[in-house]
Amino acid sequence: MGNSDTLKRRGLMFVLSSPSGAGKTTMARRLLVEDDEIAMSVSVTTRPQRPGEVDGKDYIFATRERFMEMVEADEFLEWAEVFGNHYGTPKAQIKAGLKEGRDFLFDIDWQGTQQLYQRAEADVVRVFLLPPSIGELERRLSSRGTDSAEVIAGRMARARSEISHWDGYDYVVVNDDMDACFAKVCTILQAERMRRARQTGLVSFVRDLTA
Ligand code: 5GP
Repeated sequence: MGNSDTLKRRGLMFVLSSPSGAGKTTMARRLLVEDDEIAMSVSVTTRPQRPGEVDGKDYIFATRERFMEMVEADEFLEWAEVFGNHYGTPKAQIKAGLKEGRDFLFDIDWQGTQQLYQRAEADVVRVFLLPPSIGELERRLSSRGTDSAEVIAGRMARARSEISHWDGYDYVVVNDDMDACFAKVCTILQAERMRRARQTGLVSFVRDLTA
C-alpha cells in the first residue's frame, strides 16, 4: 500500500438504489464483504422484527413513541414512512464515522436519497442500478417461485415507478452481468474516495512532500 492510501480522508455516504430485481442486494452484500472501509448504515425502524433479524445490526427496532421522540429531537439525517412503518437514518453514528474516514452504505429509496442529499450533499454519492431490459426484470421478479400473475404484475408496476427516478442519481449502472456491475460499482467508490475535498490529509502530506 502506497503512502497515498494511508492519507487521512473524510468518509462518504454511498447510496445504492434500484428497483427490486436489479441486483442491489447482491451488490450491497458483496461490497460489505470485500471492502472493509465501508459499513452498512443501520436504520431505526418501527416495523416488527422479522425472524433472523438482529436488533442493532439489521435495524435498531424502536416503538413509534421512541421514533417520534427522535424526530422531534432532530436525531435523523432523513426518515420516511414506508408501507405504514417508519424508517430513519440516525445522525450520530454517521457523523462520527465520516469524520474518522469510514464510509456508509445506504439501502434507501429515492425519497430517502433525496432527503439525504439535501441534508448532506457533499458527503453523498448516489448510484442507481438498472436491469438490462424489462423482460429480464420480469424474469428475475417471477423466478422467485410460486407467485401469482397478479403479485408479479404488482412488483413490475412498483419497479417501473422506481426506475422513473433514475435521474436523481450521480451514477447509473446497467446490471447485465453481476461481476462486471460489481467492478463498476467498486470503481465509482474508489474514485469518489480520491476526490480532493475528501482527502483531508492532503494539505499536510503535500507540505511534507515539498518541505
Ligand atoms: P424492510 O422493512 O423490507 O426492511 O424495508 C422496507 C423499505 O424501507 C425498503 O424499501 C428500504 O429501502 C426502506 N428503508 C429502510 N431503511 C430506511 C431508512 O433509514 N430510510 C428510508 N427512507 N428508507 C428506509
